[in-house]
Amino acid sequence: MNTQTVDMEQARFYLQKYYGYPDFREGQRRIVESVLAGADTLGIMPTGGGKSVCYQIPALMFSGLTLVVSPLISLMKDQVDALTAMGIPAAYINSTLSGKEVNEVIRAARRSQIKLLYVAPERLELDWFREEMKQLQISCVAVDEAHCVSQWGHDFRTSYLAVSPFVDELPVRPIVAAFTATATPQVMDDMTSLLRLSQPSIFVTGLGRDNLAMSVLRGENKREFILNYAHTHAHQPGIIYAATRKDVDDLYQRLNDSGVKAGRYHAGLSDQEREKSQESFLYDDIRVMVATNAFGMGIDKSNVRYVIHYNMPKNMEAYVQEAGRAGRDGDPSECILLFSAQDIMTQKFLIEQNPQDETRKHNEYRKLQQMVQYCYSTSCLKWEMLDYFGEDHDNKPCGICSSCRDERELVDRTRDAQIVFSCIHRMRERFGVALIAAVLKGSRNKKVLQYGFDQLPTYAMLRALTEKQISELINLFIAEGYLRLSEGQYPIVQLEPLAVDVLKGNHTVMMRAPEADKNVSDSKR
Ligand code: ADP
Ligand code: ZN
Repeated sequence: MNTQTVDMEQARFYLQKYYGYPDFREGQRRIVESVLAGADTLGIMPTGGGKSVCYQIPALMFSGLTLVVSPLISLMKDQVDALTAMGIPAAYINSTLSGKEVNEVIRAARRSQIKLLYVAPERLELDWFREEMKQLQISCVAVDEAHCVSQWGHDFRTSYLAVSPFVDELPVRPIVAAFTATATPQVMDDMTSLLRLSQPSIFVTGLGRDNLAMSVLRGENKREFILNYAHTHAHQPGIIYAATRKDVDDLYQRLNDSGVKAGRYHAGLSDQEREKSQESFLYDDIRVMVATNAFGMGIDKSNVRYVIHYNMPKNMEAYVQEAGRAGRDGDPSECILLFSAQDIMTQKFLIEQNPQDETRKHNEYRKLQQMVQYCYSTSCLKWEMLDYFGEDHDNKPCGICSSCRDERELVDRTRDAQIVFSCIHRMRERFGVALIAAVLKGSRNKKVLQYGFDQLPTYAMLRALTEKQISELINLFIAEGYLRLSEGQYPIVQLEPLAVDVLKGNHTVMMRAPEADKNVSDSKR
């Protein structure tokens, strides 16, 4: 990092003067300091963490222009409107402007009359635009939603690859600052290499926001749960995400029929309809928005009190981004994921439907598995999330997630565990959850008989449980680290060393009472 002294007092002065915030949040302060010191910077912050300030304040302090690469036209307009309202000279160039308006913006930039210029990445591919930019003094290129440069992320956008050649062409290399809410190591590597950040300072902050109570609920009647919840939280803004348009339409209808004013949002609606429901939600004409994941990017509504997922999303990145739309104002909010095993099938189907190469597919299956693991986790969900994203935590349970609040008593499941592990061992660790459950149940299905598994000593040893309960149990053992799933479309279950300890009688397996008991207590709540 450059050792020039950084005037953080001045930075704070601008923050108070223009934004009216008394001080930087800790993550912001470190990022602003790094950018002002002239270092390429990768800032990873959750949605609502306050990324904009991280490049807008430096932009005010740099002598030249800050070019902001931003993926959405609507987002650009909101940002520029907000900046202009605060008295910060900013503009955008995009397809909504006439040729004359574009020229005016360029002229203003040449005269150093604007500090921030917002463009979509596609613009960097236009020769005339690159030529214009070469004539300007550009101090910083800020890349928003920088995960779009990575094929491993969930919104890959080819034109993000134009950022680095663009930067290379400039007569003086500007500082490159990239921002995203996505922090898996692979995506981080891609951002660094594909944006060609030069020895970047990397900051990962605030994923675990203290005001968010995370819950995973398994085995709920999802529809009933949502109707109930929307009624008991009738005056609070909330978002309900569903995986398919059909489910969105269905929930939307039911909510409205039952007297909850709900809006809906998905790609099957006309532009006008989508815009209208988005506006109604922003201005609190409707309380609940039922939507597919098409909804939310660039929505700045700070008082969303809950985000419910009707289905499990495809991976943790998507989940954290969507759930993170709750509680941006810092007030207590809930993120509830309604999980059912069917969700896994749906996501696998979606992966198979999407034409893509084998490596990517493999990667998607792996991420799906980690998502499933989160859903079965019995440890603090905040830790699980921070661990996934590689952020440090202080080993203090959050106290408000569904695992932390789970008061079901711990029971000794060592005997069941031994039966399951021994069965897996005897099946030579070569089969998936469903077949193992079938064998333990004592099913006479074709595959069981074909492999002669009805001859195993563990055959039918868990016949008192249903196959579904046995599958759940196996999934719990996976989530607790006794077993692992291989990768791919048909993952097979294998023993971890911990399972071997259990088989040898060296380890006791303590687990929460089974799900069935939980449903009873839930309905009493
Ligand atoms: P992101 O782009 O990371 O989603 P924003 O930049 O839109 O987040 O900021 C999220 C919210 O946090 C906004 O409502 C903003 O007003 C608020 N905010 C940002 N920085 C601060 C700060 N230092 N003090 C108080 N509020 C802040
Ligand atoms: Zn917790």
